[in-house]
Amino acid sequence: MIVIGAGPAGEVLAGRLRSRSDKRVAIVERELVGGECAFYACMPSKALLRPAEALAEARRVPGAAEAAAGELDVAAVLRRRNEVIHELDDSRQLPWLRDRGVELIRGAARIAGERRVEVGGEVLLAADAVVVAVGSDPLFPPVPGLPEVHAWSNREITTAERVPERLIVLGGGPVGAEMAQAWAWLGSTVTLVEALDRLLPREEPFAGEQVADGLREAGVQLHVGTSASEVRRDGDEITLKLDSGASLSASHLLVAVGRRPRTDELGLESVGLEGGGYLEVDDHLQAPGLPWLYAIGDVNSRSLQTHAGKYQARVAADRILGDGGATARSDRDGPPRVTFTDPQVAAVGLTLEQAHERGIRATAVDLDTEATAGGSFYGRGAEGTTRFVVDEDREVLVGVTFVGPDVADLLQAATVATVAELPVRRLAHAIAPFPTRSELWLQFVEAYEARRGVTMHSGN
Ligand SMILES: Cc1cc2nc3c(=O)[nH]c(=O)nc-3n(C[C@H](O)[C@H](O)[C@H](O)COP(=O)(O)OP(=O)(O)OC[C@H]3O[C@@H](n4cnc5c(N)ncnc54)[C@H](O)[C@@H]3O)c2cc1C
Repeated sequence: MIVIGAGPAGEVLAGRLRSRSDKRVAIVERELVGGECAFYACMPSKALLRPAEALAEARRVPGAAEAAAGELDVAAVLRRRNEVIHELDDSRQLPWLRDRGVELIRGAARIAGERRVEVGGEVLLAADAVVVAVGSDPLFPPVPGLPEVHAWSNREITTAERVPERLIVLGGGPVGAEMAQAWAWLGSTVTLVEALDRLLPREEPFAGEQVADGLREAGVQLHVGTSASEVRRDGDEITLKLDSGASLSASHLLVAVGRRPRTDELGLESVGLEGGGYLEVDDHLQAPGLPWLYAIGDVNSRSLQTHAGKYQARVAADRILGDGGATARSDRDGPPRVTFTDPQVAAVGLTLEQAHERGIRATAVDLDTEATAGGSFYGRGAEGTTRFVVDEDREVLVGVTFVGPDVADLLQAATVATVAELPVRRLAHAIAPFPTRSELWLQFVEAYEARRGVTMHSGN
């Protein structure tokens, strides 16, 4: 079996194939084993955010606040980020593959016909399957002047060795919002531009609004509902014109408006597929009509997140090894997702609007994230909204969104409840520990009972 791309999706798949069979597995990697996530995305971005987030948390808590009166040590933050990405050296990733007996081939792979993969002039033949796990590149929108200004992508912003003096961030999705806040905290003067009418447009509207407040508090200037119409560079100065008429200038420009699959040079034409686009797959992660070809991770566009790619890797591996029932079903419709800003946004399933668009008779229970006994320990300024979206006909949760500081780890309970389609009356028996913010679940059940005029403790 041949896996193309040793990012998180490819690595997990290769490891699982080896741990569950004695077949030969080769993984081909043209850059760094560990992929975008380990070196230029998830890991460095969280390393840049976490110190200021920890400081903000301490400053909200009386007693700790007095001890946390100093400034962020920017040099130490960047040093720690460099440790997290192992100075862009992937040798620490290699034992994981070696221990599992996965053969690593360095080089750029191209598909060269059915079950054939060419690397460095040599053609490898897969007896069973070829799995494409090549990930995605940043998307640069067709803004006049953009190709000439040497704008930054996620790679430069996550590995920058110096704080950009003045930074414009194009794009208010998770990557744009996280990087705007991180670098503002680290001392940059940051302006963020989002074309749609709010940040995090795929999340509940209140999530984008509350993150916008958090960004403003960090000093980020926001231009929302307006697009870049032209950009140019004069020496060290970049000027960006907006269609609102405003003109912004900065020393650096980050483009974070989306991703494009790495399928341009992949040889897909040799098997009758078109290059350049996302590699379409069915719920078995197989390319339609080509039962030997699988695509997992960002390249299939089902969900551009590491944990979704790792989930697909497990499903695809099981399918390749003969489990005909292995099917991906929870990575497309609202997989769990976290934006690691302050406040954080952690969500799973559908928003209320998405549920209505699908014809679900859905209602929402909205709560204040901070309004539990456990929440009180997070201090002043730890506010946010939590929303539970219920399918009234089936009395099950179809979506949950938490906004507030450090809510990421609250999400898994919501993921379990939505994936398992647990009836609300069953949730009523899930005792929440006191005093923790998990009592939001108790408040949800009580609010739901009150609204329906029922109690939920009888029956199952
Ligand atoms: C700034 C930023 C922050 C993010 N933060 C998070 C986060 O906190 N949590 C989260 O879940 N997701 C996050 N993501 C998304 C996450 O990075 C991706 O979803 C994830 O990296 C996709 O994994 P992958 O294995 O599909 O691809 P990748 O990680 O891109 O790995 C693909 C690998 O394939 C290799 N490759 C490509 N073409 C070839 C070829 N022809 N031959 C050989 N090798 C090839 C590449 O070199 C690469 O190593 C973030 C993204 C960005 C940009």
